Amino acid sequence: MSDSGNRFHYFRLSADDRILWGGYDAIYHPGNRVEPSHDLRPETFAVLERNFAATFPQLDGIRFTHRWGGAIDTTTRFSVTFGDVMGGRVHYALGYTGLGVGATRWAAGILRDKVLRPQADLLRLRFVRSSPLPIPPEPLRAPVVNLMRDAVMGSDAAGGERGLFLRAMDALGVGFDS
Ligand SMILES: Cc1cc2nc3c(=O)[nH]c(=O)nc-3n(C[C@H](O)[C@H](O)[C@H](O)COP(=O)(O)OP(=O)(O)OC[C@H]3O[C@@H](n4cnc5c(N)ncnc54)[C@H](O)[C@@H]3O)c2cc1C
Repeated sequence: MSDSGNRFHYFRLSADDRILWGGYDAIYHPGNRVEPSHDLRPETFAVLERNFAATFPQLDGIRFTHRWGGAIDTTTRFSVTFGDVMGGRVHYALGYTGLGVGATRWAAGILRDKVLRPQADLLRLRFVRSSPLPIPPEPLRAPVVNLMRDAVMGSDAAGGERGLFLRAMDALGVGFDS
């Protein structure tokens, strides 16, 4: 299950009857820094625990036994995008924005078709053929990402209402709701 915030939580029961609770925080480290130390961020774990307690007050007092995180990739469309390099000899799919377990299987079919069945129907989808707006390079990238994150947080705080900035982004094809 997941809740319906822009910054959503996902949660499920594990096979041994425990709760897996995740999502919500997405931190950009200026300069595209990706380091193992970023995967274990105490502030993020504290926020997740606080939000868990708010969602399930009847479970107050239980402790989390395991914590983990990791880098995710994104595009301005917040979903997978496709491309070719090296004169069409290499095809790629990337930008799953943390929603890749199902989407990678679908995208693998697109990559297979690009190589083996270039006439396949799926390759004619605009979603497959078009590219998302590029994310600007640094030093613009960090402020733009923060602006977007603040707008999304503001929308969640306002019960999902989308202000002028987010509506403009939707019109440009930027974000989950575009
Ligand atoms: C903390 C976290 C939580 C997530 N939660 C969810 C979720 O709940 N739901 C969801 O749908 N998605 C989730 N995702 C996203 C999902 O995991 C990814 O979108 C998906 O795994 C991407 O699949 P992939 O096959 O493209 O890449 P990967 O799964 O990253 O596979 C790439 C593989 O290539 C290998 N590799 C890399 N370089 C080389 C090399 N040079 N030679 C050989 N092998 C190499 C790597 O070891 C790896 O096994 C989450 C991601 C993270 C980090």
